[in-house]
Amino acid sequence: MSKIAFDHPLAPLPQKKRIALVAHDAKKAELCIWAAKYRELLLKHSLYGTGTTGALLESELSLPVIKCASGPLGGDQQIGALIVEEKIDMLIFFWDPLTSQPHDPDVKALLRIAALYEVPIACNRASADFLLTSSLINESYPRRQ
Ligand code: PGA
Repeated sequence: MSKIAFDHPLAPLPQKKRIALVAHDAKKAELCIWAAKYRELLLKHSLYGTGTTGALLESELSLPVIKCASGPLGGDQQIGALIVEEKIDMLIFFWDPLTSQPHDPDVKALLRIAALYEVPIACNRASADFLLTSSLINESYPRRQ
C-alpha cells in the first residue's frame, strides 16, 4: 500500500499567534468563562472563530474576532482551510463529547488537519489552560523545518 508523504517544511508558529476559537453549543458558556480569564493575553494575539462562537466572544468580552461561517454551515471547514494555508497557529476547540453534531464529519476533518499541520490543539479548559500558560505562547516555535 502506498503511503502519502507529508514532510515539507512548515512555517514556524509566530510570536503573535493566530488563535482559532470554536465551541459547540453546550460548551459556549464554558469557553466564554475561560476566555474571560485570559482576555488580556488573548488581546495580544489575533483571534479567529466560527460564526456563533466568535459573535459571542465579541459581545460578551469585547474581543475582536475574525469570524468564519457558523460551524454547521461550514465554519469548521473554513478554519481547516486556514490551517492548510498556515494562517492559524493554535486551535482552542471546546467540542461536545456528549452530543452528536450534524456537522460531525467537518469536526473530524478540522481535528485531523490541525494534527497533520502540527497546530497545538486544546479540547477543554484544562488543556487550554496548559496551552495559554506555556512560555511558548509568546515565542516563535519551529514546527517541522
Ligand atoms: P458556531 O460553530 O460557533 O457557529 O456555533 C461551532 C461548531 O459547531 O463547530
